[in-house]
Amino acid sequence: MRIINEYDARQLNLMFKLLIAFEKKQVSLFSLCSELYSLVNVMENMDSNWRGKCQDELYTLDLLEIDAPEMEKNEIEKIVEKATGSLKKLVRSKLDEFDESQRRELLKTDLNIKEIADDLGNHWLMCPVCQESWENYEEYPMVRCPQCHQSLHNPCSKSAVKWSVKVNSPKNRLYEIKYLPDLGYCLYVFENDVRIYDDLQDSWESAIGCAWKQFNVDKNLWKKDEL
Ligand SMILES: [Zn+2]
Repeated sequence: MRIINEYDARQLNLMFKLLIAFEKKQVSLFSLCSELYSLVNVMENMDSNWRGKCQDELYTLDLLEIDAPEMEKNEIEKIVEKATGSLKKLVRSKLDEFDESQRRELLKTDLNIKEIADDLGNHWLMCPVCQESWENYEEYPMVRCPQCHQSLHNPCSKSAVKWSVKVNSPKNRLYEIKYLPDLGYCLYVFENDVRIYDDLQDSWESAIGCAWKQFNVDKNLWKKDEL
């Protein structure tokens, strides 16, 4: 099976949007066809079988322009509905395939990647490359930045081991150490759910040492979180 690349996925998204816009009568049949033709043609890595099926449906719609004067209105509508419905299914199936391949990629820790998504607390992550922040509930070892598409290590990964210390006074703080397999120990400090500090250390000892030196967190207070 061919892997759908990011570029093709973008064209697929455009195709899907156009089909929806056509359903809402925001674009004409003529511009729908011509734009879909060109999108199908510029794709880089789609299999010829899929491309052929799309072109067949588009050809059916094209023929309408020639045959339409002799046809009943509801006959035309039926043909349009059937062809655009098939096109939508064809596009949807490839988009699903793309989503699935993206998910599979995120299941493996990629050690060629050094960047870790910034954990801002409360399920919010930030991309260290482009500074985009987003809400994340994924627990795979890797996440992808929705803006620049960079793969990043996921600090909320299920495989992360977490220790924490909660302090209520003088300030409402949560200290966390997360071990991300193969990467190291991240020390995070949250104040009222907002991250105010983060640091990556090589070992558990240096992480708790750092928490002690910077924030006076007693070594004996660390508790392992049961996830
Ligand atoms: Zn980014």
